[in-house]
Amino acid sequence: MTERFDVVIIGTGAGGGTLAHTLAQSGKSVLLLERGDFLPREMENWDPKSVFVDGRYISPDTWYDADGKPFQPQVHYFVGGATKMYGAALYRLRPADFGELKHIDGVSPAWPLSYDDFEPYYTKAEWLYQVHGNHGEDPTEGHWSRQYPWPALSHEPRIQQLFDDLAASGYHPFHAPCGVALDEAERARSTCIRCTWCDGYPCLVHAKADAETIAIRPILDLPNVTLLLDAEVRSLNTDASGGSVTDVVVSLNGSTETYAGDVVVLSAGAANSAKILLQSANDAHPNGLANGSDQVGRNYMFHNCKAIVALSKDLNDTVFQKTLGINDFYLAWDDYEWPAGNIQMIGKSNAEAMKGEEPKLTMLAPKWTLADTAKHAVDFWLTTEDLPKPDNRVTVDGDGNVHLAYRSTNDDEADRLYHELKKLLNHVGMAEHHVLSKNFYMDMNIAIAGCAHQVGTCRFGADPATSVLDENCKAHELDNLYVVDTSFFPSIGAVNPALTAMANAIRVGEHLIERMR
Ligand SMILES: Cc1cc2nc3c(=O)[nH]c(=O)nc-3n(C[C@H](O)[C@H](O)[C@H](O)COP(=O)(O)OP(=O)(O)OC[C@H]3O[C@@H](n4cnc5c(N)ncnc54)[C@H](O)[C@@H]3O)c2cc1C
Repeated sequence: MTERFDVVIIGTGAGGGTLAHTLAQSGKSVLLLERGDFLPREMENWDPKSVFVDGRYISPDTWYDADGKPFQPQVHYFVGGATKMYGAALYRLRPADFGELKHIDGVSPAWPLSYDDFEPYYTKAEWLYQVHGNHGEDPTEGHWSRQYPWPALSHEPRIQQLFDDLAASGYHPFHAPCGVALDEAERARSTCIRCTWCDGYPCLVHAKADAETIAIRPILDLPNVTLLLDAEVRSLNTDASGGSVTDVVVSLNGSTETYAGDVVVLSAGAANSAKILLQSANDAHPNGLANGSDQVGRNYMFHNCKAIVALSKDLNDTVFQKTLGINDFYLAWDDYEWPAGNIQMIGKSNAEAMKGEEPKLTMLAPKWTLADTAKHAVDFWLTTEDLPKPDNRVTVDGDGNVHLAYRSTNDDEADRLYHELKKLLNHVGMAEHHVLSKNFYMDMNIAIAGCAHQVGTCRFGADPATSVLDENCKAHELDNLYVVDTSFFPSIGAVNPALTAMANAIRVGEHLIERMR
């Protein structure tokens, strides 16, 4: 017999986990279906070789690019989803990102809601995910109704020097918003030991504010919350008219089970949510569920990113490096008429990570050379907005394999951002010939596999002809189906996406509580 719940949520990451946390206190029965297990806490969590070279926590999935070439996508199937590996840089989109923004390769479309509509939920998400930061420092940020719950993480000496040099040169560096369980005033009571391992690693001591530690674990004891692990959702069935989801088809421990919900929420990640909808085609929805507009799977975006290792003459013995951001080039400026994007720091590079990310480039380099190089490295992450293009899309073949067709956009803006970083580093005494570009994602195959920031595929909007979801993230064509992962983004902006997914999940959660009242 099919078990019935008030709400069935598929996926426990930034979107699904945060939604479950929001709904849990309502007393409504909530079933969480997660295809993975809890990520094991083991020493390998912090071992660069296990994480970067062996890919211990990456799913064994095979996806295919537009030419049919197979690749292993960097997706992570655990309770908490991609947030188990994320860098916890928890940025708000800028107000301009919610409007139409002209780029060199086209227009980034407006969202159906404004920054003001999202602001209260950003605040709630920042407080839930214990973000450390300092609103008011970054000239590009929107208004905020409440300061961050924790003061910004202080810079270590090398980064403070960079911060001071940049400010003295007329730039506007700011403390990057970061979700870690670190109370700097009361270090003795804090869990975070401020190691280098936030970015790309799971946190062994559970001090990273991820969807497992913050959203899922605290609700597991509630009698109205049920979590099923190793429960891979295959498809959704509807009634004969196609107007409602009747049950969720799940592969659980080798057998096929079905579960029903008054409300069903898909939150399996942008690519996998599109896959599930496309696999659920039936007579009423011949092109896939909720896909009368032919928009499901389209407009896939994942940022135009570069990782830069800048080699400084000075030693960089920083441990936790991700404390500084620069948005001076986020919007068009006097010298350049296009928005180029965000500059932030990433986790400190080390020899194993360099080998893992660039095996060909580093193949002949002895490990001690790389280790010495890493001691001087100051590491940056550059993010340029990627535009929604209908042909950048997820499709599924007859065997259920994901195909991902993708071409980057705004390459010129990304190059300009890199140019500005080099200029800026020259200003602060890190000479240009000391800058090594390690554009990890320039090669197309690597680019497509690095799908950490995947969004789009089920965008929300007012018009059912051009969008999949309405403003509440309910499918236009079904009365009880919602999507709350990053699929709903109509555009991606140029900052990390997780906080926006979390804020939106709280927003949709409050709507659902109202709906079920
Ligand atoms: C290495 C790395 C670093 C990152 N750093 C940052 C950062 O610093 N800041 C930031 O904002 N973002 C960062 N991100 C991106 C961020 O983690 C994602 O944007 C965010 O987690 C997406 O949320 P989501 O709910 O869409 O998907 P996810 O968090 O991936 O959740 C999807 C969930 O669905 C489950 N699932 C998938 N398929 C099925 C199925 N068929 N049945 C049941 N369950 C299923 C998955 O196991 C997973 O739990 C990073 C990501 C990575 C990988």
